[in-house]
Amino acid sequence: MKLHNFNSGPSILPQSVLEEASRAILNFNETGLSILEIGHRTPWFQEVLQEAKDSVIQLMQLDDSYEVLFLHGGATTQFMQVPMNLLDEGETAAYCDNGIWGKKAAKEATHFGKVMVVSDSSDRKHTYIPKDFTVPTDAKYLHITSNNTVEGTQWHRFPDVGVPLVADMSSDIFSRPVDFSRFSLIYAGAQKNMGAAGVNLVVVKKEILGRIQRKIPTIMDYQKHIEAGSLMNTPPVFAVYVSMLTLRWILAEGGLAEMEKRSLEKASLLYNTIDSLPVFHAPVVPEDRSWMNAVFFLTNPELESPFLDLCKNEGMIGVKGYRTIGGVRVSMYNALPFESVALFCDLMKDFASRNS
Ligand SMILES: *Cc1c(COP(=O)(O)O)cnc(C)c1O
Repeated sequence: MKLHNFNSGPSILPQSVLEEASRAILNFNETGLSILEIGHRTPWFQEVLQEAKDSVIQLMQLDDSYEVLFLHGGATTQFMQVPMNLLDEGETAAYCDNGIWGKKAAKEATHFGKVMVVSDSSDRKHTYIPKDFTVPTDAKYLHITSNNTVEGTQWHRFPDVGVPLVADMSSDIFSRPVDFSRFSLIYAGAQKNMGAAGVNLVVVKKEILGRIQRKIPTIMDYQKHIEAGSLMNTPPVFAVYVSMLTLRWILAEGGLAEMEKRSLEKASLLYNTIDSLPVFHAPVVPEDRSWMNAVFFLTNPELESPFLDLCKNEGMIGVKGYRTIGGVRVSMYNALPFESVALFCDLMKDFASRNS
């Protein structure tokens, strides 16, 4: 049976990327060595790293006031590393709590300075993104989560707040053109839309660094990573390689405008289908719905497990909602073909016709 991979992360990657990566495990670029066996300071890996960085710069249209880093860990590491580098004790950082990841990010920042939660959507179970909040002018930065992977909301227009903007873009990075120059720092764990787990992309505007008194452990210091060109120590070589291949694929497919077009086609079909079938309902307000992760429920909760069983039997993988939220979550990252969403929608219609 053909499987359709709607996993929320780690998640689907382009087939061509998987094929190239598996060839490289045995014989990287006809070197006779595996990508797992080559030194990270060899010209071979330097080329991989350079192409990955150049692709990020090209896709995001960054000027040279920015640096692109590939660092160990997951986005969770950045929850700590961002405030460690940007926020001094006694200073305040503003955070938007629009879901589980933003809340965790805010909590980690309390280890380093004061945290002010300027926006909190928990009053309506994070089914919307509040836009009318203010940020104190002395806040060091405002942290947002561009796409709330678990709750299924997404910023479709970014706030203009007069303080540096920091974004966790883990689950919608490279899914659409954005004016990236509005951000002072962007980070993303690779395993949702960019590659294999184990590496973080960090894009940082150089001018926001070096403004705190704290002594930062070397491995946590963005400035030191910039000086070392992401080669302070052994980077996650294979994960960087898979990201490079995925970035190459995005560029070859037509870049971020094309990714956005495809995402919109997939998301529109899915949300229209949900909205047209009374057995399902999507709680997120239409203007804030995520094009990456659609969260919805069975109107009759007793139908949830039969529906999930049907999905499983039909090869629809990874559609069970997040453990604390329940319901259904369909992730539609860049590599997911339109056809998978179309077949999923057919299944929903079929289920609805037999259960209404
Ligand atoms: C998955 C996710 C995280 C956590 O990523 P890890 O790599 O597991 O640390 C953080 N933020 C967002 C928006 C996510 O989707």
